[in-house]
Amino acid sequence: MMTHDSKDFNCTAATTGFGRSLSLQVYQFQGATPGKKVYLQANLHGAEISGNAVIYHLIQFLQTLDNQQLQGEIWLVPVCNPLSTNQRSHHFSSGRYNSYDGQDWNRIFWDYEKTGVDIMAFAQAHLHLEPEAIQTQYRQMIQDQFQQLLLETKASSRVPFKHYYRCQLQSLCLDADYVLDLHTSTNQALDYLYCFQGREASARDFLLDYGILMSTYDGDAFDEAFLKPWLALESCLADLGKPIQFDLESWTLELGSGMAMDEFSIALGTRGIKNYLASKGVLKVPDFPLPITTHHEIQFVSRQQVKKYHAIAGGMIQNRVELGTFVEKNQLLYEILSFNKIGKIPQILQVFAEADGLVLDLAINQAVNQFDYVLAMMELG
Ligand SMILES: [Zn+2]
Repeated sequence: MMTHDSKDFNCTAATTGFGRSLSLQVYQFQGATPGKKVYLQANLHGAEISGNAVIYHLIQFLQTLDNQQLQGEIWLVPVCNPLSTNQRSHHFSSGRYNSYDGQDWNRIFWDYEKTGVDIMAFAQAHLHLEPEAIQTQYRQMIQDQFQQLLLETKASSRVPFKHYYRCQLQSLCLDADYVLDLHTSTNQALDYLYCFQGREASARDFLLDYGILMSTYDGDAFDEAFLKPWLALESCLADLGKPIQFDLESWTLELGSGMAMDEFSIALGTRGIKNYLASKGVLKVPDFPLPITTHHEIQFVSRQQVKKYHAIAGGMIQNRVELGTFVEKNQLLYEILSFNKIGKIPQILQVFAEADGLVLDLAINQAVNQFDYVLAMMELG
């Protein structure tokens, strides 16, 4: 039987309106031999629940293993944002933005690179070391700086919740090797992932069909906050003639639609994560990595190739294309039923694709004000 542990991670200073404390539950699985640390969380945005089911299936699966079948450790945190999951507007889960300060819950995280650290100076001073030693020393610098932040956060009476909360999550994952943040669309969407530079080969192991390449990022998102300081170090080392890619990865998986427990997306996500962990050697289990991994193709697009369509007028959306449809330029995307209030009979306004592409995401609400979001296309090729 593998060692596993489940513990409450108390946010003792974080209490809700009537003094109730908020807490997170962390499930930890430890293999017989040391190795990589994997950190997985789900439901950072309140409407994005399917990752919790993925974590549930992974916990069920991990419980069937013996401790020789896991190398290293896996930490899993379902329902990682109790405040966002509680948010409602009528029947709708509105927890993408913190309703108290308006901020996106996934734009609050601490980025080591922004502390003013001179990464190039570190790279120059450690250029003569082996990659493992560079990694260890850089990790220690990040951890030291983070411990300082923790002390300041705990000691100060000027800390907003978002700064307290980010410390809770980041203290669980800063020492990890592979970080996975499970999201979905707020709306209805296909399954895909976000991929950082140099990690394209590993992206394939998730067995998803589409990936969005991160070319620019500001470090505030959870996946970015983990990996960005390392990518910056890799870049400095390459500039100094010593290209190194650390075996550190950070992923955001987008598993289907919001406010839904879609069986297909849950199964796809669970299979993909098992396959990824087996490909990394963390899991040693029969059948994984699946034979299809070697010839699986993931199609990458840049963020700029994902185009959002916004309503050209207020009204109701009808005759909209289905999710996952390949659409050609000038093909009908949707119609707006418009009661124009200029004394004329109601109009049907047609909106056409401005380029070829795949229908990636559809708004749940088919009532729109002018300029409201309607759908997103992934422009391929
Ligand atoms: Zn999200």
